Amino acid sequence: MTRWRLWSQRPHVIVFCLFTEVATATVTVLLLIRTPPDGNAVLTFCVLLAAGVVQSEFGREIERDYRRLTGPPYISMSSVWVFAGVLLLPPALTALLAGGLYLHLSARSWNRLRQAAPFRSASNATIIALSGYAAQSILTLCGVDDMAAAVSSGWTGSLVVAATGITYFVVNAVLVLPARNVVGRTAQELFGTWGDNRLELATLCLGALNALTLATMPWLVVLVLPPLLILQRTVLVKQLEAAVNRDEKTGLLNISGWRILAERALATAAQRRRRFGLLMIDLDHFKRVNDTYGHLAGDAVLKAVAGAIVTAVRDRDDAVGRFGGEEFVVLLPDVAEPDIAPVAERIRQAISRLSVLTEHATVSGLSASIGSASYPRSGTTLPRLLDSADNALYHAKSTGRNKVVHVADLG
Ligand code: GH3
Ligand code: MG
Ligand code: MG
Repeated sequence: MTRWRLWSQRPHVIVFCLFTEVATATVTVLLLIRTPPDGNAVLTFCVLLAAGVVQSEFGREIERDYRRLTGPPYISMSSVWVFAGVLLLPPALTALLAGGLYLHLSARSWNRLRQAAPFRSASNATIIALSGYAAQSILTLCGVDDMAAAVSSGWTGSLVVAATGITYFVVNAVLVLPARNVVGRTAQELFGTWGDNRLELATLCLGALNALTLATMPWLVVLVLPPLLILQRTVLVKQLEAAVNRDEKTGLLNISGWRILAERALATAAQRRRRFGLLMIDLDHFKRVNDTYGHLAGDAVLKAVAGAIVTAVRDRDDAVGRFGGEEFVVLLPDVAEPDIAPVAERIRQAISRLSVLTEHATVSGLSASIGSASYPRSGTTLPRLLDSADNALYHAKSTGRNKVVHVADLG
């Protein structure tokens, strides 16, 4: 529990969060005092805040479930309203909008959830507010005051809106880095997946359309809400499904997720008379890794092995799952029997080349035993195929480990 509090974070995270939060709050208050917003701006602010609140209320339960399972999602759809704010409101009101939306989220959607420490919410709100300030500076630089001015400037206005969106996107991606900078994080963990980034861009597009509607025909903004709510629900449900089927430690599919894909692949293969391969991989003497370097180092090794397997197979079709402990399964759709062994051998070699940097030591000299089976020769049902691969794996273990055995070769 304690590690979710601000004071238990690493020093640079504490300094970054406190500095940005205090600086953003101070600038926002000073700007509000110096140029108090007019009635029109306050009305737009209220509409955007209300719409954002309705949106987060709508997805509240699903988002809570998701957070319980895996922690915060990479994307928050509040940018739909904040980016509209960037194009419609004075800068300080946009920052206030980000603060208001996150305050509502942390009070209603994230309260009492371990992964949603108040400092994270405050830091996220600050990052969004700063992205808003940065994006608005592009408007100022280009001499376009807001969306209404952009509309009357024709193509130039469209380009300025696009530049504003890109700035918002980039500054947001960069500002999250200091708070996420944990040793050994991959590019995907730092910047999110392509899917995350596509969703973020889609969110900004909707924000721009929101702003356009509010600047030209304000009442039509009610038309934006229904499709947005449905999109949000679809995205959350998809993320929730993915989280349920993912193994948290390695990021691979867990048993149930892998089984779903495997059953689907089996049905397709049966229907279209195709073949596929199945590998069962077990690390050799993994207990020794735990005993020598500790359980955390063991976890880091499991993660590295998972990465090595994923890299050694094809990107899209080959489903890699963690079957439990230090055991992995790989499905190789459309791979004929003679081609299974080379893939297994590539994985075995990739694991043996691994050198895993853990907090106190570098772990190398790993090896794995691999059993393989093929559809339809080794079996025509999933349990039968798994049994076959398991037999082959058992044989690999009992005849010296660090090798690949195909079930058909056992005779
Ligand atoms: P063998 O070559 O016969 O497979 O030996 P082994 O030591 O790999 O196999 P054994 O089944 O004796 O031990 C598996 C070890 O894997 C024991 C268990 O503590 C460890 N393990 C299982 N799950 C995890 C995990 O999530 N993290 C860590 N660090 N270790 C795990
Ligand atoms: Mg083992
Ligand atoms: Mg085992």
